[in-house]
Amino acid sequence: MPTTNQRLTTRIGYGFDSHEFHPGIPLKIGGITLAHDKGLGGHSDGDVLLHAIADALLGAVAAPDIGALFPPSDPKWKGADSVVFLREALKRVHDAGYGVANLDASLILAAPKIGPHAAAIRVRVAELLEVRSDCVGVKAKTPEGLNQENAAVAHVVVLLEQQRVPKKSRQANKE
Ligand SMILES: [Zn+2]
Repeated sequence: MPTTNQRLTTRIGYGFDSHEFHPGIPLKIGGITLAHDKGLGGHSDGDVLLHAIADALLGAVAAPDIGALFPPSDPKWKGADSVVFLREALKRVHDAGYGVANLDASLILAAPKIGPHAAAIRVRVAELLEVRSDCVGVKAKTPEGLNQENAAVAHVVVLLEQQRVPKKSRQANKE
């Protein structure tokens, strides 16, 4: 078993999410609202990108995923702001002694076009993750040949860097 002296200095995380488009609800991607005639339904406010980022962060520190931490079956999370999930995931990263080095995301959706909004999404995600916006990559593709015109998909990889000794180890060292 590794000891606290053999902690990883970097960790990688990967997150995936998908949501279905529904008419008449707001479209939130990356913590910003985009003008569109359809929004993403399902868990909370349906922010597919923030969910994938949260899962990438949680996965990087081997924590339970957002489905386990914030069960979709719990009415408490219906319509919830996904920023809440992201903050909890980031807290777990910080508690484990890590900070975000950089993140890269790919969105796959037929519409709306993400290009004109990519800079705003990068700025918002960077703000939420407490990093510079040049540490956040956001790319978008259309679902060529995937037959998923009515869904939005997000893939995210994140790299964490060790910042300090984690809370638990500090307590252990005092004992
Ligand atoms: Zn989701």
